Amino acid sequence: MTGCAQAPVLRERGQHEVFCGLTGIVWLHRKMPDAFFLVVGSRTCAHLLQSAAGVMIFAEPRFATAILEEGDLAGLKDANEELDRTVAQLLERRPDVRRLFLVGSCPSEVIKLDLARAAERLNAAHAPHTAVLNYSGSGIETTFTQGEDACLAAMVPALERTDDANLVLVGALPDVVEDQALALLSAMGIAAQVLPARRAGEAPRVGPNTRYALLQPFLGDTAAALDRAGATRIAAPFPFGEEGTTAWLRAVADAHGVDDATFARATDAPRARARKAVSTVAETLSGKRISFLPDSQMEPSLARFLARECGMEPVEVGTPYLHSAIMAEELALLPECRLSEGQDVERQLDRLRADAPDLTVCGLGLANPLEAEGLTTKWAIELVFTPVHFYEQAADLAALFARPLRRKGLLLGSNTPRGSGGVKPPVLAAE
Ligand code: SF4
Repeated sequence: MTGCAQAPVLRERGQHEVFCGLTGIVWLHRKMPDAFFLVVGSRTCAHLLQSAAGVMIFAEPRFATAILEEGDLAGLKDANEELDRTVAQLLERRPDVRRLFLVGSCPSEVIKLDLARAAERLNAAHAPHTAVLNYSGSGIETTFTQGEDACLAAMVPALERTDDANLVLVGALPDVVEDQALALLSAMGIAAQVLPARRAGEAPRVGPNTRYALLQPFLGDTAAALDRAGATRIAAPFPFGEEGTTAWLRAVADAHGVDDATFARATDAPRARARKAVSTVAETLSGKRISFLPDSQMEPSLARFLARECGMEPVEVGTPYLHSAIMAEELALLPECRLSEGQDVERQLDRLRADAPDLTVCGLGLANPLEAEGLTTKWAIELVFTPVHFYEQAADLAALFARPLRRKGLLLGSNTPRGSGGVKPPVLAAE
């Protein structure tokens, strides 16, 4: 079966409606408790972060925005001097910070503030206690998941080198899900480290005998950086749903010579649990048509899960960027549908209205207007904030898509009809 592996891809380059890469700080700062993210940006960037992350009352914040004022933007002041002073004050007050990320934004790019050189200079001043790295979260360059990719890619050159054979799992998953993945591998006798490590001292080492397995489909730059460091990617679908998780584990197990009996002992019970749990939720999803607008690069993997394990019919699967090598195993499993890469938002909305799917996965900015038109929507960003990987979360992943359909059904007083885009229900707040 080749699925969508050879399918034509509709490529669009136009106005797009997505969050910028700064959003990734919201989950990255939770993952790395000894890291600090200093956005060099504007008040808009500060507001985005504050509203995306909510207010942290009990913890010392681990991200902030160094605001570029009008004088900086006009080149009237030396922004580098101010940055050095801000970082020195921050690190003096916060000796617990072991990794400091200078995060570029649209304003820092517009004034061409060289954060790579700033990070080098600050690293010389503050390492080894605090490593200073930089990456861009600018909306000019990144969509919301690319912020994580840029952050992890920036960490790779600083990793210690090794000639030892080792395995690195790549992607920032919630600790509880990461622990499940490590336990599944451990049950097969496989030890692994994770990028990003929770603590600076636990960072994986990398070299020519390193193999790595991606946990998220949007980590293309990180994969390229690991390849440059000599590591080899284990090709696999992504661990979404029972099938994706099993295929991902199988690929890692095969790379380590694990036999079938050991694999079955480690996976049979959680596989059966996941299948059973997903099948209950799939009753709501089966037969429904779904379209994805391009937001996260997770779209083909999610469409594959929803089609093959939940009986949904993908109509259009849009993705901001389709990395053909990383996605090859996913596309081979994805049933025939319209694949699109990039966005020309008006044209895409025209196609969406004509398709009238039962469920549309899109960004927050488009969700409420589409609901007002009668389409049922799901916020793409929730898929990154919610634990959805591996066996124990497979049913939760399906439930994220079932919830808006159930709610629509309740409000209409019946099961959601196929192609509900043609129906004008009450205006709903998107989930
Ligand atoms: S980085 Fe750009 S897109 Fe993101 S909040 Fe700042 S100004 Fe807006």
